[in-house]
Amino acid sequence: MATHPCPKCGATMEEGFVPDCRRGSYSSPSQWVEGVPERSLLFGVKRGGKRNLTIATFRCSRCGYLESYARS
Ligand SMILES: [Zn+2]
Repeated sequence: MATHPCPKCGATMEEGFVPDCRRGSYSSPSQWVEGVPERSLLFGVKRGGKRNLTIATFRCSRCGYLESYARS
């Protein structure tokens, strides 16, 4: 993805991601799932059949502003 300027201060944005710590690992980026959470007694929040996108988070190198994108 091409870098773009910070919407707050115009400095360079760095690409990264916010890890999903619930999996006990720092290797998995957080996910965006469509719709509202549907609770399941056995499996927690159901995700079957829903769109599931990896979230890329950009951080401003000057002011620290975070901007997230869930691109398909
Ligand atoms: Zn900034």
